[in-house]
Amino acid sequence: MKPKRIKKLQARSRNLKVMTLDARTMVVESRSDEFNNHIVKVRFGRRGNVHTECTCDWSKYNGMACAHTMAALEHLASRKGRRLSFWLREDEARRQKQRVFYMEGGEPEEGVWITSRAS
Ligand SMILES: [Zn+2]
Repeated sequence: MKPKRIKKLQARSRNLKVMTLDARTMVVESRSDEFNNHIVKVRFGRRGNVHTECTCDWSKYNGMACAHTMAALEHLASRKGRRLSFWLREDEARRQKQRVFYMEGGEPEEGVWITSRAS
């Protein structure tokens, strides 16, 4: 299950504070509850595949590419001087002529495409 309005979600994710725990683990503030935070874990696989996990409800019920994982990935990218964009379809991502990553979903076709550009 992936978000339908991914651009809107990405815009919201830009306002979330991110704190790094270690190279693969980040704490991201909750948008709905200011006293709550979510833990995002990121693992980079082969061929540009990215696997993420988050402790929010959306992720708990098999959702992927929540605002927290986007914020965490954007945070990692920003430290390398990169900015990310998220896409629901591969052809949209390829059209950007940028470096492309694939955020894995629970099912083979359920992932989200990510492009990375110099910021
Ligand atoms: Zn989340």
